[in-house]
Amino acid sequence: MDAQQLKERLLSLVTVFEEKEGLLTSLDREIGDGDHGVNMLRGFKSLEGSIDDASVQTVLKTTGMTLMSKIGGASGPLYGFAFVKMSNVESDDIHDYLQAFSEAVKTRGKVELNEKTMYDVIERARQMKEKAEKVTIDDLQQLADNTKDMIATKGRASYFNENSKGHIDPGAQSSVYILNALIGDD
Ligand code: ADP
Ligand code: MG
Ligand code: MG
Repeated sequence: MDAQQLKERLLSLVTVFEEKEGLLTSLDREIGDGDHGVNMLRGFKSLEGSIDDASVQTVLKTTGMTLMSKIGGASGPLYGFAFVKMSNVESDDIHDYLQAFSEAVKTRGKVELNEKTMYDVIERARQMKEKAEKVTIDDLQQLADNTKDMIATKGRASYFNENSKGHIDPGAQSSVYILNALIGDD
């Protein structure tokens, strides 16, 4: 993927987050403070006009800096930092970028698998992509759906304790769209 294609894929998320704002908001209302849809849309809308498309690295870096400052909440620093970390990867191999994405969220969020966060989707998508050439949006959605049965032990959702069970984690859901933009077919 070249810088221009990557930029287009990232900007296509503006439409996605416009469509999914309501869903993300309602998920975050169940086990959070109800701002995840607004946060994601604000962050990705700010990419319009702020992406430097000189190279793949500058696209990733300017995206990360923008997301960090515009999304806010817990997810802004996590997604933002992850894109900045990906901008340090010098490789043509998508696996190296996914590795950096996942490691960044893990480190920054001090999070492990099964804590019911975006990391459950990001790390498992990374593992999936190692094994299969194709990872579809349905595969990614399944990973987000699997957070339903988990009990949250990180972020606001952890205040809900056992009651966090039965709901998809909002960040797990938003990471379906981000990963699909990065590794999806279309
Ligand atoms: P806030 O909770 O501050 O309102 P958002 O609603 O934008 O922020 O984002 C919430 C999402 O952030 C959660 O659904 C979860 O996926 C993710 N999250 C929160 N804390 C962590 C953490 N420590 N590690 C990984 N992801 C986290
Ligand atoms: Mg929230
Ligand atoms: Mg909030």
